[in-house]
Parts: sequence; C-alpha cells; structure tokens
Amino acid sequence: MNAKEEIKKLREEIEYHIDRYYNQDEPEITDYEYDMMMNRLKKLEADNPGLVTPDSPTQRVGGKASKKGLKPVKHNMPMLSLRDVFSKEEVISFVKDMENALENPEFVVEYKIDGLSMSLRYDNGKLIMAETRGDGIEFGEDVTANALMIDDVVSQLKDPFEYFEIRGEVYMTNESFDAVNKKQELMGKKLFANPRNCAAGSLRQLDPQIVKERNLSLFIFNLQEARGREFTTHTECYDYMKSQGIKVIDNYKVCKNADEVWQAICDIGEKRGELGYDIDGAVVKINNYAQRSMLGSTAKVPKWAVAYKYPPEEKETTLLDVELSVGRTGRINPTAVFTPIRLCGTTVSRATMHNQDFIDELDIGIGDTIVVYKSGEIIPKIKEVVKSKRPSGTKTYRIPDTCPVCGAPTHREKDSSNIVCTSLSCPAQLENHLINFVGRDAMDIKGFGAAYIIDL
Ligand SMILES: [Zn+2]
Repeated sequence: MNAKEEIKKLREEIEYHIDRYYNQDEPEITDYEYDMMMNRLKKLEADNPGLVTPDSPTQRVGGKASKKGLKPVKHNMPMLSLRDVFSKEEVISFVKDMENALENPEFVVEYKIDGLSMSLRYDNGKLIMAETRGDGIEFGEDVTANALMIDDVVSQLKDPFEYFEIRGEVYMTNESFDAVNKKQELMGKKLFANPRNCAAGSLRQLDPQIVKERNLSLFIFNLQEARGREFTTHTECYDYMKSQGIKVIDNYKVCKNADEVWQAICDIGEKRGELGYDIDGAVVKINNYAQRSMLGSTAKVPKWAVAYKYPPEEKETTLLDVELSVGRTGRINPTAVFTPIRLCGTTVSRATMHNQDFIDELDIGIGDTIVVYKSGEIIPKIKEVVKSKRPSGTKTYRIPDTCPVCGAPTHREKDSSNIVCTSLSCPAQLENHLINFVGRDAMDIKGFGAAYIIDL
C-alpha cells in the first residue's frame, strides 16, 4: 500500500471511530488504539504535505453534529482539545519550549479525567447554561436541564460577579458505574462498556430523571472566561472556585521545572488505579493566564498545555476454560478462567463473561488469546480477543443448552440476555433458595449452615 492509499484508509477508519465515540457513545477501540491510528496518519501527512486536505480528521477538533433532540448552542468560547504526548522526551521538550518562550513559567500537573467535557456559564452568579463540547469550535449541545441533576453542579455562586464561564469533565465513579451496570444486568439490559461511555450516554439523555439515577459527577479543570473579576493564575481561580463549593480536579500540583513535572506525572501514574474513578492521562499546563494568552492556540489546541497519555494497564492471556454457575433465579453465569496474569499489583485468573451476547460480540472461544484490563477498577474485565493469535478450529463459546447442574434444558428469557435453567427443582436453585432461607437472621437455625446444605 502506498502512502496515498494508507492515508485514505486511515481517514476512513478514523472517521468511523470518531462517529462511534462522539455520536454513538459506543467506541469499538481503546483511546490508545485510536491515538496510535491518529499518530500514524499525522506522520504520513507530515511526510507527504501535498496529501493534507482540510477535511482530514487531523485538521478538526472533535465530534460532529449534535444528537437528535438536544438543542445546539453556539459556543461563547471554543472548547479545544489538547495535544497528546506519549513519552518522557515529549514532556521534557514541551517544558523546555515553555521555558524558552516565557519568563519563569510555572506548571500545573493534574489528572485528565476520562469523561465528557462540559462548560458552565454563570450570569451574575446564576447558572444559565451547560453545554457539551460538540464540534469544539462552533456548536455544542444544551444540556442545562441534565446538568442540574448532577450534585457537583453548583447552580448559584455565593460571591457572584458579572460573567463566569468554566469547563469541566462529567464522569462517573467506579462505584456508581458498577451500580448502574448491576441494575442493567438484573433487568437483562445492555451493559455499558466503561464509566466514560455511561457518563457520556447519560449526560446526553433526553430525560433528566435518568441523569439523576445514574449519579454522575463533575470536576472543573479550566476557566474559560471571567468578566467583572480578575484572576492571575489557574490555581488562584481554583481557590475561588473551591470557596464557591465548586469541585475542581483533585490533587493538582504546581511544578517549577521539567524534573518536577515528570515526577508529578509518574506519581499520578502509580496511583491511577486507586482513585475510584478513571483518568486517561495527566495534563501539564501553564499556570499564569497572561503567559497563556501570549502563547495562544493553534486552530485545534492551546500551545500552553499538553496531555500525557499513560499506556493502558492490560495484558494478554489465554482463555483456558469457561466455568458455569447457576444463580438463585436459575440464571447461568459464565466465568472466564485464564492463565494467571498480574494487573495493578494483583494476580487475576478469572473474569465474568456476562452472557451470550457479550461472548458473541467479542467472539470469544476457549483457547483464544484475550486482552484483560483493569481500568482503575478492582474487577478484571475482558476487553477483546486477539484474532491474529486464534488457534485454528477455535469456535465461539456457547452456553450449553442443558443446565450444568441438573441437566434440564436451558432457555433464553424473553427480551433479555439471560439464559436460565428451566427446571423448577434444579438443585442449584433449590440449594440457593435454602441458603437464602436459612441465612436470613429471623430464620437462623443453629448448625444448619451452607456447608451442610451442600452436603445433602
Ligand atoms: Zn438446573
């Protein structure tokens, strides 16, 4: 394939994934894979400047049209993305550039929250508009009614001034995410792939009540515009926001030089699995607003900040077996058993396969090489199958059509992903009924514990 063909192919693939991410809220690849595709395209275009066209995804900022039913809103200030960097060398080089361009620049290193960007406008202290990023430059979507359902959104400032516009990231804690998916699973509904998709899908719901139920959170990370009050630095503005009850990014660090900046990035990297929410990088930005203005922006990104992207915490392993258990309701639960791997400091060898839909979607078979990840979560999850490593003759796993405990036929519940044992006298269900019954405090019978029931 020559450069022209590869550029064409990459652009088509990237456009497809941009649509999955921004407009469908259902990405099929990881951010890291997306970044790598984009980097490859940028490199090809840099080597072949004659092939750069204005409609290339490298020349645009973000998503496309607004979702049906949400009102478009014209941005007062653009919501730009950040330039991504992937190595220590690039971080150091950014710091050096800043030191050459500015007098004694001060840097702030902070978490890059993995969520959906949203700006809030305050008119004389009153929240008048919440908007998504949309295309980043011209139009976003009006999500004011939904934003008001998020506890972290402050609707009235205590010390108001003429106009205040701030930008933050709507996200979901792992705890809220697990609760939502647990509920989805109980109702036999589709599971969300990760907290970000769930947060993004929820914020862009048409029903604010659903937003409330999903329990979204918000961290503010930038001042967009202030009129009627002067702020000199980013951290000074953070102090004002905190005094107004606005939640700003946790644990940000002010740094003076490249060593401190890199150390702060490493410190975040070490703790990123324990925060209770997902981050997808660390942002390095200039603290002083006057210095930021001096540098300005390109059409796409500000020149005064970069986003460092950590490599994902995931590993390949081999699927050895699928263990089946039968729940109290007769639901058959498939669990993947794989060669033990170490992730985020712990050894893991099992992960849920949820249901047949999940297995089919990922096309998982015994013997396959699977990618397992822990994204700031305690529970390991299966991300994908490495198709190129599939042994010949491997078949997609099928939950058997007979119950693994009693041998009765299984059946798929209507409008649900659940496959259940049809026998009312299934020992697995009975046993669980009994354990449930005996376990209840009021009914406790001394010496009649779970172990005894299983012996029966
Ligand atoms: Zn059964």
